[in-house]
Amino acid sequence: MAVLHRPRVTITQMVAEDVNAELDRLREAVVGMRSALDEMLAAADVRDGGEHREILESYRMFADDRGWVARIGEAVHAGLTAEAAVQKVQDDTRARMAQATDPYLRERLSDLDDLGNRLIVHLSGGQTRPILPDPPVPIIVFARTMGPAELLDYDRKWLRGLILEEGSPTAHVTIVARALDIPVIGQVKDALARVEPLDAVIADGDNGQVFVRPTEDVRDIFATSMRGREARQASYLAMSNLPTVTRDGIGVPLNLNAGLLIDLPHLKSAGADGVGLYRTEIPFMVRADFPDVAAQADLYRKIYAAADGKPVVFRTLDVGGDKVLPYMSSAGDENPAMGWRAIRIALDRPHLLRQQLCALIQAASGARLDVMFPMVAEVAEFDAARAILDIEIERAAARGIPLPSPLRVGAMLEVPALALQLPALLRRADFLSVGSNDLIQFLFASDRGNPRLADRYDVLSPVILSFLHDLALRYSAAKVPLAICGDMGSRPLETMALIGIGMRSLGLRPLEVFLDSLYATSAHTIRDLLLAYARDHGVAV
Ligand code: PEP
Ligand code: MG
Repeated sequence: MAVLHRPRVTITQMVAEDVNAELDRLREAVVGMRSALDEMLAAADVRDGGEHREILESYRMFADDRGWVARIGEAVHAGLTAEAAVQKVQDDTRARMAQATDPYLRERLSDLDDLGNRLIVHLSGGQTRPILPDPPVPIIVFARTMGPAELLDYDRKWLRGLILEEGSPTAHVTIVARALDIPVIGQVKDALARVEPLDAVIADGDNGQVFVRPTEDVRDIFATSMRGREARQASYLAMSNLPTVTRDGIGVPLNLNAGLLIDLPHLKSAGADGVGLYRTEIPFMVRADFPDVAAQADLYRKIYAAADGKPVVFRTLDVGGDKVLPYMSSAGDENPAMGWRAIRIALDRPHLLRQQLCALIQAASGARLDVMFPMVAEVAEFDAARAILDIEIERAAARGIPLPSPLRVGAMLEVPALALQLPALLRRADFLSVGSNDLIQFLFASDRGNPRLADRYDVLSPVILSFLHDLALRYSAAKVPLAICGDMGSRPLETMALIGIGMRSLGLRPLEVFLDSLYATSAHTIRDLLLAYARDHGVAV
C-alpha cells in the first residue's frame, strides 16, 4: 500500500506572542529530536561500518550543529514562532541548495533541510506522521525526496520500496536504502500527485516502473512474475554451493561486482569465487574530501577481511565523467564519458593514483593483490600506470612494508582502441577484464545511460559477439586470463552466449559451433536464436 511521506505541516502562526516561551519550545524540541535520532540510529539494523554509517553519523552531527540551532534562535528573537523560525532557516538552506552545483554540498544541504522538517514535527507534537495502514501491511513509501535517517522512521518489517520524485543513485537516502536492501525508484515525476494514501501500488524496481491502483490483470501478471522470481531466487540459492562448471565439464569462475563494503556478504551467499571488479570510487563519492592513505588503507583492509581470503580485483579510481567527486573540480567535458576520467586523470594527477596504490599495498600486507586500471586506451598508458605502481612497491619495500604476493596487474578492456593493440598488451598484462558497459557504448557510439537508446542496439548482436569471440581466441592463445566485468556477464542468456564464444580458456563446444555459424549474419540481434537454443538444450535462462 502507498504511504505518502510526511505531508507538509502547515504553519498557522508565524508571529510569536511570547519570545521566551517560543525559545523554550525550540530548546525542548531540539533535545527531543536529538534523542529520538540517537535512539533511531542505535536501533537501525544497518550493519556496522561502511559508507551508510558514515552518512548517518554525519547527519546526526548536523543535529548538534550550534550554528544551525543558533540561526533558528535568532529568527525567534526577531519575533517568529519556533516553527516559522525553522521554516525561515530552511528557506535559506533551500535557496543555497538551488544554487549549489556541487553534488556533495547539495546532499549536505538536503540533510539540513531534512532535519528542519524533523524539528517541525517535534514542535508540532508529532501530528505530521504519515497515514499508515492499520493493521500493518507491506508498504511502499512515496516522497519528493528524503533524508537518509528518515527512512529509518519506517518499520523495516513492512517497508518494501521507496519511490522518489527526485533522488539519484548516489543520494544519501539511496545508499542507506541499499544497505537495508530496500529497492528505490528515483526520478519519478509527479509521483506524489498521482497517488493517494493507502492506494494499492506495485513497484517494479527492475524496470523502474510504478503502477498505482493496478487493475486485476496487472496484479495477476505481477503476482505470477513474483512467484516465478521467488522460485528462481530459491533455485539460485540452492545452487549457490555447486561448482560452476558447464555440462561438458568446463570450469567457469563466477565473480561478483562490488562497490561498497555491504556488497561483500553476497560473496558467500552467491557462492562466488571472488570479486572480479571492486569499483573503488563509490566510497570516495560520499565523502567530504579526498581520503588520505591511512583512511583508504583502512577501508581496503576491511574489504580484505570481508572477502575472507577470496581474491578481490581492485579497480583504481574511475572518476570523472558521470562519477563526480564533490571535492574535485570537474573538467566540464562536453562528452564526459569520453572525457577526462579514470586513468587519464590518474596519469595527469599521479599523486592520487600513488596514494591509492600505496594504500592498497599496505592493506594487502603481504597477501595477494589484484590491481586493474580502467579506461586504458593505449598500451603506453598501461605502462605508465604500471611504472607508478612499481615505484610504490619500491617505496613500500624501503619502508619495510610486506610486499603483496602475488601481485597481479591488469587492465580493463573498455576502449575499442585497446583491442587493436593486443599483442603488446598481452605481453604486459597479467589479466584483462572486458568492461562491456563502456565497450559497447563506444563500439556503437551510443550513450549507455540514454533511455532512448536502450533498445537500439542489443548486446547479443552478432557484431559484439564476434568482436568478443575474436578477443577470446587471441587471449586463450596467449594464455592470459580474460574475464568480463560489465553487466552483460550478469544475465543468464548473455552469460550462456559469453561462455559459448569462448570467454574462458575453452568454450562450450556445441554452442561454439552454433555461434560460429552466426557471426557473419547481418541481423540486429541473435537473441531469439540463442533463446531457442537455450530452450532446446534445457538451459534455464
Ligand atoms: C564497464 O564499463 O563495463 C564497467 C564494468 O565499468 P563501469 O560500469 O564502472 O564503467
Ligand atoms: Mg567502465
